[in-house]
Amino acid sequence: MSAVTVRLPDADATRAYGRALAGVLRAGDLVVLTGDLGAGKTTLTQGIGVGLHVRGQVASPTFIIAREHPPVPREDGSTGPTLVHVDAYRLGSLDEVDALDLDASLEEAVTVVEWGEGWVESLAQDRLEVVLARPRGGALTDDDLDDAAAGERVVTVRAVGARWADVALPDADPVAG
Ligand code: ADP
Ligand code: MG
Repeated sequence: MSAVTVRLPDADATRAYGRALAGVLRAGDLVVLTGDLGAGKTTLTQGIGVGLHVRGQVASPTFIIAREHPPVPREDGSTGPTLVHVDAYRLGSLDEVDALDLDASLEEAVTVVEWGEGWVESLAQDRLEVVLARPRGGALTDDDLDDAAAGERVVTVRAVGARWADVALPDADPVAG
């Protein structure tokens, strides 16, 4: 098991780290994002989407719990995996987890789950557990949610399972842009 911790001074750094993380992701991988409301989970997923070169804007879903972003061919003609973005914040029960039918996604896509802790672990032995935190603490107000000045984040990525045994996780402070 390996783990890295990276400081993310602003939202661009969060997106850049997501792009870097996409570099080690392949079809069948599961990423579990943990952190308070406003911690940067969706922002990180946006970066993963850019890194995987998928279609559509990664957003916070209002009603849709799982959204599929198919890959777009790169300039060299290659295509990567589909991104399936799950935001389980509004998930009511474990029956609804079954209804999401994530089995196919967990085999063929890169599956990124917000608010998955407590149920998603049983779906896969191998996963990246990503925790986003605001080191200076304090409760977020609604205004903070749109305010990049609301303070830096720190991301910790913990690799669980044999899949990640020989994988180097991105750990340098990513350059934004
Ligand atoms: P979550 O999905 O965890 O609820 P979001 O990704 O929607 O959180 O992010 C909430 C807000 O935090 C957004 O306005 C985003 O731009 C901002 N944000 C993300 N990462 C950082 C960061 N490293 N520093 C400051 N603000 C950030
Ligand atoms: Mg979110």
